[in-house]
Amino acid sequence: MSDLLPFARPEAEPEVVAEPEAAVEEAPAPPVADDRPLGPTGRPMPVLPDPKPLTEHGPARVISMCNQKGGVGKTTTTINLGAALAEFGRRVLLVDFDPQGSLSVGLGLNPHEMDKTVYNLLMDRTTRLEDVVVPSGVPGMHLLPSNIDLSAAEVQLVNEVAREQTLQRVLAPAIAAYDVILIDCQPSLGLLTVNALTASNGVIVPLECEYFALRGVALLKNTIDKVQERLNPKLEIDGVLGTMFDGRTLHGREVLERLVQAWGDHVFHTVIRRTVKFSDSTVAGEPITSYASESTGAEAYRQLAREVALRCLDV
Ligand code: ADP
Ligand code: MG
Repeated sequence: MSDLLPFARPEAEPEVVAEPEAAVEEAPAPPVADDRPLGPTGRPMPVLPDPKPLTEHGPARVISMCNQKGGVGKTTTTINLGAALAEFGRRVLLVDFDPQGSLSVGLGLNPHEMDKTVYNLLMDRTTRLEDVVVPSGVPGMHLLPSNIDLSAAEVQLVNEVAREQTLQRVLAPAIAAYDVILIDCQPSLGLLTVNALTASNGVIVPLECEYFALRGVALLKNTIDKVQERLNPKLEIDGVLGTMFDGRTLHGREVLERLVQAWGDHVFHTVIRRTVKFSDSTVAGEPITSYASESTGAEAYRQLAREVALRCLDV
């Protein structure tokens, strides 16, 4: 008898053991009380409250916008998520980390008229953050601009000591002053992107809702895993964002379905639909949240800001 209860004391009364079947048997699934409508990703849409107002600021969560494919919405998401978070009272710093400089141009800067850029910050130790940071035109949101000079940094950094930690080092003084720092990565997985991932707490992967979107994603995941293992154990995937979604086509919905299969709950409930307003607002040099404040595109990025705040800022 006692050898059935190997950890019982010899003098103890034999315990009444519940029928194992009873313990193992699954409780019947509760009736589906979830009458929330399904969102575009095919899952019930959660309630996303406005982020709470802040009384103090910092330390910032650093988030990289990363996908080695171009034209998937990294820059658009950096500008508009940043602007939406600033509307909710967050202090936001955007980092243009693509030598194309689209983030800077998208906020109305002229690439030929930049005094100091992220390049100077990375390569010259006498350049300070406050020498480079500029207003973005959106209250509460600042920008570290870049232009084509940054492409030289990728080459020059190769010979530096701690070359992967350079961006992390130069951003360190900004952490206390901001609530969120968004880094717009270039479309490659080279040394600049590795610097961005090393400097980050989280990464957001924008993916265009089209059939080949998942191509190359394994390579991206592999890079994120390597950076996490070797350089930055705190790095997390903050979310995968479906962009340029067209809800009228079966195709767009199938791609979202596959995204959820592949990335599970990493996929944001918020999805960004395709609309020409985004290119229009880039030409105007301002975020869609101010250029077309009432548009569905602006509302989509406000909703993403609520979801990001709930997931990884207000925790
Ligand atoms: P990336 O930074 O990944 O290269 P961008 O954000 O620059 O991508 O977007 C590429 C192009 O697609 C830009 O011209 C941009 O205006 C446009 N775009 C981005 N998001 C959308 C969208 N949801 N609907 C329509 N056009 C978009
Ligand atoms: Mg870009």
